[in-house]
Amino acid sequence: MKITFCGAARQVTGSMYHLQFEDGYQILVDCGLDYERNTKFEKNADFRFAPRLVDAVVLTHAHIDHCGNLPTLFAAGFNGHVFCTEPTLALAEILLQDSARIQLGKKLNRSRKNRRKQVQHEKALFGFKHVKEAIDSMITLPFNKPFKLREGLEFEFISAGHILGAASVVISWNNEDTTQRIAFTGDLGRENNEIVGAPHIPEDLDYLVMEGTYGSRDHTEQRDAGDVLMDFLEDMKDSPHSRLVIPAFSVGRTQSILFTLHKLYREGRLPAVRVFADSPLGQNSGEIHQKYNNWLNKQARRYAEEHGNLFAFRQLFLVEDKEDEETMNSHNAPGVLISSAGMMDGGRIQRHIANNIQNPDATILIAGYCTPGTLGHELLERRSSVRIKGREYPVFARIAYTDVYSAHPDRNELKTYLKKVNAKSRLKKVFLTHGDPESLQNFELFISEGDLDVHIPQKNESVEI
Ligand SMILES: [Zn+2]
Repeated sequence: MKITFCGAARQVTGSMYHLQFEDGYQILVDCGLDYERNTKFEKNADFRFAPRLVDAVVLTHAHIDHCGNLPTLFAAGFNGHVFCTEPTLALAEILLQDSARIQLGKKLNRSRKNRRKQVQHEKALFGFKHVKEAIDSMITLPFNKPFKLREGLEFEFISAGHILGAASVVISWNNEDTTQRIAFTGDLGRENNEIVGAPHIPEDLDYLVMEGTYGSRDHTEQRDAGDVLMDFLEDMKDSPHSRLVIPAFSVGRTQSILFTLHKLYREGRLPAVRVFADSPLGQNSGEIHQKYNNWLNKQARRYAEEHGNLFAFRQLFLVEDKEDEETMNSHNAPGVLISSAGMMDGGRIQRHIANNIQNPDATILIAGYCTPGTLGHELLERRSSVRIKGREYPVFARIAYTDVYSAHPDRNELKTYLKKVNAKSRLKKVFLTHGDPESLQNFELFISEGDLDVHIPQKNESVEI
């Protein structure tokens, strides 16, 4: 079998692995958008293989860097099935529609004014029609149930933690007289995620393709998310302008934060502040979490059964229309604001940051890693001023950081995972992907005491296994 590392090789985004078996059968594991700073967006349409010759696509999860290029694949002639879990289908639908909307919006803007803001999106990669084609072609499967693609070739989803419905993919195929097995971890989660379970350990593997996002980092926060948020809530000044602004991704992080706040409310610990959630996508994502609550971890599932829902509590105010926005903007008391995107590189959060960055009574709580080049990264660098939508703002708000909501394991957790896999396998090779070169190289050194054969593939490198 020949595997080609089409994306997420020595970088984080654009996850895509092309597998070609001896008889010509082709599988794509993930079909993500590459949005690295040094990659032209249009390049996403240049596939390294003929899309119409691919037999099946298998998706690990709904994040755009794992499924966001799927409509482009359909636009380029792919007409097979896409396999994923039920929550991945539901989340991918809203995320892909949103991606199409952003791309088409950017295209529309171009014909008007505002040329400076055009970034590199010369033209949209796909439209709503391709999103529909992608969604209509999806076949959902549960965890731990092997699916036969053809004689002597099957795959299985196992839980990866990370976000709702996220899976690792284990593929088995017959090679002459033996059966070979390879697993793609996809993005892994952590043992103690607020809403989803821990990653499941794949067994009897020959090969492992493993993510190394945090291959050189240690998560520092060991406390419970509720205790961490309470620190910030208790620190809020007693002023009408007091704000705790939390940028959060619509899928996963927004739900984790709201769930924590809901629990604090039930425990009677949440101070008397209004909590504004300004993220339509986050709200849709929350509804999907409610609908597929049998995919949550045990604790969250029990909570949902007991309280009817996970995210709604009396102090929460969902911003849905213009009127709600006015209410939020004219709020004259301490308030918490949750909005997306998490790295602040776009979305409604930019407006909230612009409104609060010069406010000394505001804290901007960054709840996760921010890629260089994003507004979040600039704030974490403690710059004295930042540029938002073409305007320079001095930073007077307090900038804070926590890794308590990180959806990826740190290097120790990754190492433990790898040890567990190796104990149940006969690993011939481990491929490290989904991390910047330094993270992956550091992680390779970090795990070097064993006799593991580790390889960090280049983008578009092919390996025969
Ligand atoms: Zn992810």
